Amino acid sequence: MTKALLLYSKGLDSILVLKILEEQNIKVKTINFGTCFFDGEIDIGEDHLKIVKEPKYGRGVGMNPCRDCHLLMLKKAKEIMEKEGYDFIATGEVVSQRPFSQKKDQLLFLEKEADLEGYLLRPLSAKLLPETIVEKKGLVDRSKLYDISGKNRKRQLELAKEFGLKEFPMPAGGCILTDKEYSKNLKQLLDINPNFSQNDAKVLRKGRVFFEGKTLFIISRDEKEGEELKTFLIKKDVYLEPENFPGPSVLIRSFTENVSSDIIEKGKDLLIKYSKKIPKDFKILKYEK
Ligand code: SF4
Repeated sequence: MTKALLLYSKGLDSILVLKILEEQNIKVKTINFGTCFFDGEIDIGEDHLKIVKEPKYGRGVGMNPCRDCHLLMLKKAKEIMEKEGYDFIATGEVVSQRPFSQKKDQLLFLEKEADLEGYLLRPLSAKLLPETIVEKKGLVDRSKLYDISGKNRKRQLELAKEFGLKEFPMPAGGCILTDKEYSKNLKQLLDINPNFSQNDAKVLRKGRVFFEGKTLFIISRDEKEGEELKTFLIKKDVYLEPENFPGPSVLIRSFTENVSSDIIEKGKDLLIKYSKKIPKDFKILKYEK
């Protein structure tokens, strides 16, 4: 039985690919990569962080290094394919769906860079791309693949109907690296600390973010976020929370030396600024790790 490894984002395109391959009696294993910027089951966070800091093939509108990211995923998938004996890799990519990384020449370039020529099948656009080795060998029936291109999702929606899919996710915007505000903060973090960690990148997803020099302040927006912030505490961080009034928590992280008393005062000012009612005898608790 032919065995395929499918890069599975859980979006409609990859769900359709799963159906298309299963219709051809191909055994499909889905894999879903995750990092501190997007969720997934197989963690490739450390390798991905390197390309976010220094992408070889540029970025999109935000800090998103999409070409490098696709390439990394293909290389990781190739390792699994070879180790576990799959016949080919499939993706839900559609020619020209995204301007930055899915132009036809880009798809072919990445396939070559990942050393996967002939073994990477994009069933939704296969008829617009050169015939793969797996099609030539008859492991996949090319006549039952598609020639979809562009951003318009009409054909995918029709296909979903044909497959009897009643509920399916709309195109996901799951990667925070395409978010304008987050990217602005991440760029600033990269400038002040080129060696930033996954913890740094993750904590930037929380609360209101401020930088002062080489210090980062995160102000929680609600109680739940305040508790979450606490879980990010690492050595040298300072965490402030109100003791006798409702208000936000503040995480202070310095990328140079220890957090000075002036910086702690600044953190307390921010905590007060974002609290609604402050009693005269207000108290603020301070935690360090
Ligand atoms: S949007 Fe994010 S997850 Fe998607 S390819 Fe680009 S960097 Fe990777």
